[in-house]
Parts: sequence; structure tokens; C-alpha cells
Amino acid sequence: MKLGAFHKLSYGLYLIASELDGKKAGYIANTVFQVTSKPPLLAISCHKDNNSTEVIRKSGMFSVSVLQKDLNVKIIGDFGFMSGNEIDKFSQVETITAKTGAPIVLNETVAWFDCEVRQEIDLGTHWLVIGEVLDSDLLSESDPLTYAWYREKYKMFSPKNSPTYLEKDLLDEEKRAADDAKGDDQSSTEPESDGEKPHVCMICGFVYDPEKGDPSMGIPPGTPFDDLPDDYKCPICNAGKDYFKEL
Ligand code: FE
Repeated sequence: MKLGAFHKLSYGLYLIASELDGKKAGYIANTVFQVTSKPPLLAISCHKDNNSTEVIRKSGMFSVSVLQKDLNVKIIGDFGFMSGNEIDKFSQVETITAKTGAPIVLNETVAWFDCEVRQEIDLGTHWLVIGEVLDSDLLSESDPLTYAWYREKYKMFSPKNSPTYLEKDLLDEEKRAADDAKGDDQSSTEPESDGEKPHVCMICGFVYDPEKGDPSMGIPPGTPFDDLPDDYKCPICNAGKDYFKEL
């Protein structure tokens, strides 16, 4: 089996939200897909360990916000890599409700769907939840975000509870083996000293590359990881330097 084959499956990126007893829950998902047209049904895959899964199943409703391509990635850090126990995810976003009462996040959103749960299928680690679209809206004609584009831009990988999680070490091993077979010599391009090595954010997978720096955070190219200011934060999920490890 080739793990790399799984990265050839195409997805978008979505913010799924629900609410139970006045408490909102939301997360970032790539597995949202329309399964029938009449009635319009959407399927989502929810990990059993995630708090939002219980909220969706008990409330019987969820919303899907389709994220835009040119977005402020903080929303992905907050909703995709932080737990509702750590931060109040909804304090910095604008929401509305439509037919079901599920909160619908409008920030960075090009379109949304308001869904009532019709069916749940036990997949072992996940529930496949199927909802009927009772309402929807198109907010912008901007391009939606695709998972492939996001993964390439931020060198990120799916978090462990994602349905499309791949073990990064195994994937890297597979790539190395393929490079070796082709006779590519990667060793000459590897940085030498430790401070020059790329560091990966253990929360979201963002890679800090000293050669490129981090212009989004005002860090010029050529800045070793060790020389980053103590208050440097991951541009995606806001995690501090302590959450980075050497690649
Ligand atoms: Fe991060």
C-alpha cells in the first residue's frame, strides 16, 4: 500500500459547528461531501473522542461553513488545533442561526449549510453523520479553500483524530525510499547546524524553515530557530516556541 496515494484524494476545508444546552462546539474538517441531491444530504466524519461529535449527535444538528482560499489562518488554528477546553473558539467569530438553530460561522466563509441529522453510521474510530440541508446561503464568489492547496502552502498534516490522518514519519520514510530509488541525493541540501534546521509545530504541523524565515510574523529569511524571539508564535495555531521540535 502507498500512503502517498491518499494525498491524491481531493477535499475542501470546512468549519463544522453545533450547539447543545447553550454550549457551542466547532472544528475544522476536510471530510464534508454531498451524498445525494434529492433530498440534499451532506455527510461528515466525526471522531468519537472529539467533544463536538457528542454535541452534534445529541443536538441532531450541525452547520458547515465553506472556508475561503484567502483566509486568515488563525481560524484554522483556533478551530482545528485547539480544544474547546483551552480557548473560547466562538468569542472571536460572528455566528448566525437559520432553521435548525446550529450556530453558523460567517468569518472566512464563502457559503454555508444548515443541516439536520438523518443518519449515523458507526465506523469504529469515527461516526459518519449524514444530515439533510434545510437551508444554505452563498456569501461570496471567492474561491473555496482546498485541502491540497492548504497542505502545500503550510506543509501541514492532518491532526490525529482526522479521518485522513497519515503518520508523518511513515509518509516521510516512503518519500525517502522513493527518492533513494530514483538516486536523488538529498543530503547536500540538509542544513548543517542544529539552529539552522527546520522546526515543526507539534500542534498543527507548520514548519519553520530558517532559510525562509517567517515574513508573516516579521521574521526575515536566514533567522535560525534558536534566534527567534521568545514570544514567537506559530502563525497558524498560535502555539509558542516550546511546541516546536527539530525536524
Ligand atoms: Fe502550529
